[in-house]
Amino acid sequence: MKKYVIAIDGPAASGKSTTAKMLARKLSYIYIDSGAMYRACGLRALQQNVDLTDRIALAEMLKDIKIEITYSEKGNRVILNGTDVTDRIREADITRLSSQIAVIDIVRQKMVELQREMGKNGGVIMDGRDIGTVVFPQADFKFFMIAEVKTRALRRWKEAIDKGEELLLSQIENDLNWRDKNDSNRRISPLKKADDAIEIDTSRMSITEQTEFIYKIIRESENEN
Ligand code: C5P
Repeated sequence: MKKYVIAIDGPAASGKSTTAKMLARKLSYIYIDSGAMYRACGLRALQQNVDLTDRIALAEMLKDIKIEITYSEKGNRVILNGTDVTDRIREADITRLSSQIAVIDIVRQKMVELQREMGKNGGVIMDGRDIGTVVFPQADFKFFMIAEVKTRALRRWKEAIDKGEELLLSQIENDLNWRDKNDSNRRISPLKKADDAIEIDTSRMSITEQTEFIYKIIRESENEN
């Protein structure tokens, strides 16, 4: 069976990563969370006190940055210059910073280069905002997941509860709206559905239904070829 490149884009908390992880397991593919890479970049800038408007300092930082994703049964880990930052990059300050750093051209160039390298042999599912439009415009399959903001906020709220954190639903909704706006309105590689992507509204779908929906499309296309 051909090792495909599968792109899943969409706004925050639209169900991309949970679906991508489940699908990767079903297909024995590698899952690459491109958002985690922007998060790691934001964390690096914070650690090194890099002013996001200082292009020289940013370029220096990007020269030395090492982002690795290690794969295991228990889930992927994100390693930033030798340190496991998987949990740290999910915290609220880094979430906001990742969206701020993701508007910068030299940051995106570097991340796209790394992402293309990671996906070059196929057999990957990559999720993000610009995977189908910029990183892999020739991807074998492209999906664009959307969901109502209330549903997305509730998902994040439940995830937080599971981790023992108490967050305000209204605060989560505000943060999601801010991030969607920032990601959609930026000049370079904005969050946008690729013309040839299949849109999936996950507002009323379970994770299993989302995964099965995509899985079926991939399997059916194989039977046709
Ligand atoms: O997917 P996640 O919410 O972890 O992404 C964090 C941030 O990284 C997004 O809000 C977005 O600004 C940025 N991002 C991006 N392009 C991608 C993936 C993420 O700009 N392909």
